[in-house]
Amino acid sequence: MREDLGRVSPPTVSKPLPAHQHPLIGRLLGEHHRRLNELVQGLGSPLHVVLPQVFDENLARMQRVLDTHHLQSTILFAKKANKADCFARAAAERHSGIDVASSGELSKALSAGVRGDRIGLSGPDKPERLLKEALLHGCLISVDSVNELQRLTLIAANLNQRARTLLRWRPESEAKSRFGHSEEELNQSVLLCLANPSTIELQGFSFHLSGYGLAERATCTSRAIDLCLQARALGLVTCNRVDIGGGLPVQYVSAQHWNRFLQHDHRTHYHANKSFSGFYPYGSEIAGANALEALLQAPTQQGSLAHKLRHNGIHLIIEPGRALLDQAGLTLFNILGSKQRSDYSIITVEGSSLSLSEQWFNSEYLPDPVLLGEPCGSAFNACVGGSTCLDSDMVSWRKVPFSRPVLPGEKLVYINTAGYQMDSNESAFHDAAIPRKVVIELDPHDHSMHWRLDDI
Ligand SMILES: *Cc1c(COP(=O)(O)O)cnc(C)c1O
Repeated sequence: MREDLGRVSPPTVSKPLPAHQHPLIGRLLGEHHRRLNELVQGLGSPLHVVLPQVFDENLARMQRVLDTHHLQSTILFAKKANKADCFARAAAERHSGIDVASSGELSKALSAGVRGDRIGLSGPDKPERLLKEALLHGCLISVDSVNELQRLTLIAANLNQRARTLLRWRPESEAKSRFGHSEEELNQSVLLCLANPSTIELQGFSFHLSGYGLAERATCTSRAIDLCLQARALGLVTCNRVDIGGGLPVQYVSAQHWNRFLQHDHRTHYHANKSFSGFYPYGSEIAGANALEALLQAPTQQGSLAHKLRHNGIHLIIEPGRALLDQAGLTLFNILGSKQRSDYSIITVEGSSLSLSEQWFNSEYLPDPVLLGEPCGSAFNACVGGSTCLDSDMVSWRKVPFSRPVLPGEKLVYINTAGYQMDSNESAFHDAAIPRKVVIELDPHDHSMHWRLDDI
């Protein structure tokens, strides 16, 4: 670009962000695109495809990392990231656990076959009914505040149960969070545990960070180990668990594409010059099981974090949501039509942005959607709107690159939507049906495709 001429206006098209495709997704979109098309025709748009085989791979990879370090550990799948039963079942079959925060999630975890002692309960000021259910099933209860611990003590005493308890700590870096105990409050709760040994069994400490920095997570894990050691020194001898929450990053697009995108990002690249305050880091350099490995290798004053955990007999609990669902789903929309604006088009799809949640966090799901059965290209740029009467119901504000103009009846595919995108905000707005979820599995030998509805 001739910067020296001064008034060079920025290009009105953003840099492409091709979404990573797991080989299974590559096969689905390549060899099986006609059947996917039929499924949307038959089951409605949007249609969410969920891929438990990929979830299972992610789970196995994380478990291997933990095993390589000879750690006592538990993986709890954070259920709020996707409601599909197939993922809860996959976790159960691998003898992993699930992190829940409501009676609905708890009953789904149990009915999927997850034993109560492999279920973690989190959330602030949990309802009495939920605490009772968790006590009776022997779940691990993460207590959010001193008041909640007092309530739990009474409920446990009435039921003649001993509550397996973690205390949720709010690290300094989460000062703005509404969750967890400050260190001072932790002291009060620890004293309450000491005073109520017949109803409260303090098993450790938990925390959850909203950011994705590994160094911060390592520092907090190390600190939580110290908290366990202090509690043990006071006589709470069963205090040997550290639950580091979720937040393992996911890489949706290559770091190279991501950095180039950020360098060139400009509001003219979006319909109506829309701008966003920030985006999920779609091109993290280190993600998933590799991020877990890096975390365990992080240095502490007592050697690596893994060493410090082992040396002190600490059982590590992780609660990944998004990272277990990496590449484990996609969302198909039927295209209703498109209309031309000055130098781009507006595609209207059947469905709404309620089925791609990022918009509801004042942000956008950026990996490029693709036309089913078509190669990528950049000859045609279009944003994507939903078929509702809200001007703001945009699935993609960004003018996304396509190989050619789209036709009604074609299908648009958003890849890697299982983690949070598909179902956390869906509603029956406009009296629309809640979109269906289809479980697809490919035969490992001949790659033939098998599908079923998730809720059957
Ligand atoms: C949401 C949540 C998780 C999962 O976080 P991810 O970023 O999806 O891994 C884990 N633990 C708690 C307490 C949560 O609220």
